[in-house]
Order: sequence, then C-alpha cells, then structure tokens
Amino acid sequence: MRMSTMELSEEDRLLADTARRFSDEVVIPWVANNRDREWLAPPEERVPYELLEAVDALGIRTLGVPEKYGGVPLEHQALTFAVLAEELSRGDSGFMDTLAQVWKVSVLLSNCASEELQDEWFPKIVEDTGFLLAHALTEPRGASDRWLPYDVPEAAMQTRATRDGDDWVLNGRKHFITNGYDAKLYVIYANSDPTKGIRSGTSSFLVPRDTPGFTIGRVHEKFGARFMNQGELIFDDCRIPASHLLIENDALGKAGVYFQPGKVLQAAKNLGVGVAAYEETSQYVQEFVQGGKVLIKHQVVAKAMAEMATKIESVRAMTRLAARAVDAGADDASYLTWMAKVYAGDNIFDVCRSAMELHGGSGVMRDTGIEKHFRDAAIFLHMDGTADVHKFKIAKALFPETAAEYAGVE
Ligand SMILES: Cc1cc2nc3c(=O)[nH]c(=O)nc-3n(C[C@H](O)[C@H](O)[C@H](O)COP(=O)(O)OP(=O)(O)OC[C@H]3O[C@@H](n4cnc5c(N)ncnc54)[C@H](O)[C@@H]3O)c2cc1C
Repeated sequence: MRMSTMELSEEDRLLADTARRFSDEVVIPWVANNRDREWLAPPEERVPYELLEAVDALGIRTLGVPEKYGGVPLEHQALTFAVLAEELSRGDSGFMDTLAQVWKVSVLLSNCASEELQDEWFPKIVEDTGFLLAHALTEPRGASDRWLPYDVPEAAMQTRATRDGDDWVLNGRKHFITNGYDAKLYVIYANSDPTKGIRSGTSSFLVPRDTPGFTIGRVHEKFGARFMNQGELIFDDCRIPASHLLIENDALGKAGVYFQPGKVLQAAKNLGVGVAAYEETSQYVQEFVQGGKVLIKHQVVAKAMAEMATKIESVRAMTRLAARAVDAGADDASYLTWMAKVYAGDNIFDVCRSAMELHGGSGVMRDTGIEKHFRDAAIFLHMDGTADVHKFKIAKALFPETAAEYAGVE
C-alpha cells in the first residue's frame, strides 16, 4: 500500500521515502531473520542496537535534539514524527518505540532541562548510537490516575521525592517502563508534596543509570512488540543533585510539550503495524488459490480488504490532523491526539485481526509473520494510557462542566 503523501511538504515526502526504503531493505529482512531472537534471546540481547546504528546513518535517530547539539531542525515536528514513525513501525513497532523514547524525551529535555544539563547530556546522546532514554510515570498501584482530572492526595504518585540539603532523595518503584531495562538516562516523576495530588504535587528529575540507590529490576515479558524491553525501576534512598530537578510540582501540567507529539507518535506507530499487516495480506490474497481462484476474487475477501484499507486511510487522516494541530499549537490539539490514539488502537487491532483471518490457519503460524502484527497491535490498546481512560478525557473535553468529574467528591 503506497502511503498517502498528499499535502506533505517536500522535506517530509523525502524523509518518508527514506524511511520506507530503510524498512524495506533493512528492518523487514532483519525481523524475518530474527524470529527466534524475538522469543529466545535474553532481554539484554533483544534490543536491535544494529538497527539503531543503521538509522543513525540516515540522521533520524536524534530528531528531538536541538540543532546546536547536532540534532535536525524540523519545520513540523509532530507531522514529521508521524510520517517517519508510520514507515519505521511498518518494519517493527518495538524497534520504533525504542527510538520514539529517544525522540520524545529529547523534546522534553530541550524544553525543560537547564542549559547545563543539556550541555552535559545531549552530546552523549548524539555520539552514542546505543544511548537510550526513558521516562517513568507508571507505578504498580496504577497509572490511569495521571491522565485523569483528579488532584487529590490519595491518587498521587507513590514514588516520593524529598528535598534534603542540596539533594533530592527518591524512594519508590516504577514499572512497565519502555527502555527501562536498557536506558542510560531516565526522566523520573515523583510526588514532591504529599499534601497535594498528582497534578500539583508531581516533580520530574533527570536520573543517570549509574546513580547509587537506583537499580533496574526485572523485564516484563510481553507477547508483542518484543524487540523493546519494558523494565522495573527501584529507588532506595537514591540521592540526586538539586540541579537534576526538571520541573517542580507542576511536572504533569507542563508535560504537554512532549505528551502531545508522543500521542501522535503512538497513533503513527500503531498505523505502521496495520499497514504492514495490510500489505502482506494484500500480496497473499492475490496469490493464494482457494476454491479454484485467488482469494481476492472471492467477494467476501475483497470486501474485507476494502474495509481494512478504509480503516488504515482514516487512521492516517486522524493521526495527521492531530499532528497538524500540535504543530500549529491549536487549542484542541490534546483532545485530537487522544482521539487519534484511541481511534488507531481500535481500528488497527481490527485490521490485524482481519489480516490473520484472511490467512486462514497460516495466520497463527509463526513462519508467516502475520501473527506478529496481531500481537504488536494488541500492545497499543494499553500503552501510553488505556482506551477507556482516553475516552474519559475526550468526554471531559466535550462536556467540561458535567462529564467525568472525580467520583470521590460527589
Ligand atoms: C508496552 C507498554 C509500554 C509502556 N511504557 C511506559 C513508559 O515508558 N513509561 C510509563 O510511565 N509507563 C509506560 N507504560 C504504562 C502505561 O502507560 C500504563 O499501562 C497505562 O497508563 C495503564 O495504566 P495501568 O497499567 O497501571 O492500568 P490501571 O490504571 O491500573 O487501569 C486498569 C483498568 O482500570 C481502568 N481504569 C483505571 N482508572 C479508571 C477510572 N478512574 N475510571 C474508569 N476506568 C479506570 C483502565 O482503563 C484499565 O482498564 C507502558 C505500558 C505498556 C503496556
């Protein structure tokens, strides 16, 4: 399926073509040759550093890094992220998500970190192709509260940050963190005012991997997107200098700067998985003969292909609409990004289910690769916030006075 390039700038069109070629020539063959690695490799051998190195040669590993440190200036950052993420995720969504954290956290740092911190860390990120970044909000008690309009102490983060002289001391535990097992630098969110809730009492900190008191726990073994690792982070009297504070108390209020493009990335990565499933199915139904004719000549199959293509084009349109709103700084940008994320989650899951069904029994066999797209698509339903919680936020934006109030204060 040729990606619709309508209304893209010349620069984005070129980037999209480059990324598409990279997926076709490098990522897709790599995945086909590493089917066992997906399941059998230990976590420390699972992340495809060789792909990160190869993508770096194209100049698209460090997109969120400011130009003065060697990054690439982007005219429409969110749209460019969307176009590239679709193409690279078409190759492998786990690899793309590993990379997305580097883009996303770099955007946060370029907006919120002090010049000293940027001077210290951006050159390291640019020089080292294996330098991964992570951001950690989620805790074992639950993560949905961070997305919801609750600002009460009982729903605050349980990881605590306490000021002690010139330091902050972190205690607590994070889990499900993308690149959590492998990153070299982390943004950690913690409650810094126990009298406040998640909105007004959360601060963010920059924590290097080798900081005493910070240990990496287990990897969470998932059934999809397996070429990235989600890890557990444990803070036990972890002392960091006050200069590593990024945002005090209002860290979530100011996180829109990277949450918005991050949500666009989420929808676009999801879209790429659907495009891959569609393209492979498209080839299969034109070659595989059943009942004396190729599958596409059976009307039920043709209808299923038309439905899949319609879902893909509409997810793409929604994702790009949200991206353009983010780039324009529109008032409704957040709301559109939530819609794009939810819409992509539901529709691409359906596309991948149809792809699997159209392959018959082969659809669930590992050697066809179709089942991988289905597994990868399922991961998107929950990643970066659940679908239900996003629908709740959309409703709150639509009916600010009446819908989605915090149940506890009725
Ligand atoms: C692959 C993957 C990668 C991830 N990467 C990261 C990362 O890099 N950094 C990070 O911080 N987190 C990360 N996460 C965590 C992710 O953001 C959370 O899983 C997600 O926000 C949901 O939180 P939870 O799992 O704690 O579920 P919970 O919040 O415990 O929710 C459980 C269920 O309850 C529902 N629910 C919760 N509260 C309400 C409510 N008030 N009203 C109605 N329904 C409600 C939810 O919709 C869900 O169905 C990742 C998760 C996955 C799966």
